[in-house]
Amino acid sequence: MLEMIMLGSGSGGNACLVRNEDTLLLIDAGFSGAEIRRRMELVGYHPDDLEACLITHEHGDHIKGASILSKRHKVHLLMHPATKRAGHRKLSGSERIRHFEMNEVMQLGSLQVTSVPTLHDSASSTGFLVESDGVCFGYLTDLGAVTEDNFLKMRNADFMVMEANHDRDMLWNGHYPPHLKARVDSRVGHLSNDDSAEFIAMLSELGHLKGVMLAHLSEKNNKPEIALETVRKRVDGPIDIYIAQQGQSAEPITVEKK
Ligand SMILES: [Zn+2]
Ligand SMILES: [Zn+2]
Repeated sequence: MLEMIMLGSGSGGNACLVRNEDTLLLIDAGFSGAEIRRRMELVGYHPDDLEACLITHEHGDHIKGASILSKRHKVHLLMHPATKRAGHRKLSGSERIRHFEMNEVMQLGSLQVTSVPTLHDSASSTGFLVESDGVCFGYLTDLGAVTEDNFLKMRNADFMVMEANHDRDMLWNGHYPPHLKARVDSRVGHLSNDDSAEFIAMLSELGHLKGVMLAHLSEKNNKPEIALETVRKRVDGPIDIYIAQQGQSAEPITVEKK
């Protein structure tokens, strides 16, 4: 059994639970400690239950509540050494921190986690592949482009959280200043609906992928229905598509083979 519960996603904060029968992990802690605890309790969990919290990168919407979770609830934080160095202002130094290297396979309780390097304008940026009993869950958000390695790592994923940040027309016709538009659209910015759809379609053609949750949608440069439509149009065959919300948790999703 492998289950994921998206606690919330977007530039205002990201946090996602993944669990099997005996191990509970949090990926990213981008809300306040109190808000993460509140959202966890709403779905029947508590930060004290966490085996560990994996941090993708040092941006505030992914690390904001990490320090308090570690200090108040004794949660081990797992991050790349460069994330710790770059995130030092958001960490006091007294947290329980363990490091991982890129492409490292970690055993966390009874879950196996592989760190996957991603392209993003942070000191280090990581996606994760979580496996339990041959079922695979992929988590890729905050990436300007996908790499061949991303594809190879995720090729056996049964379910994925995948960034679909912006609609390119909305971004370029919108009100962001030019430098910010260029940053978002760059290879180390955020993933467009089109690029997300292309990646999902490629994975889907391999035949394993049962579903995706589109994540980190921009509130200014995207709309859930546009993201959904872009992916639906590009992907052949049946695939479950969910949209992560910023303001509230999603229903738990069982990750299983197609
Ligand atoms: Zn982010
Ligand atoms: Zn980021």
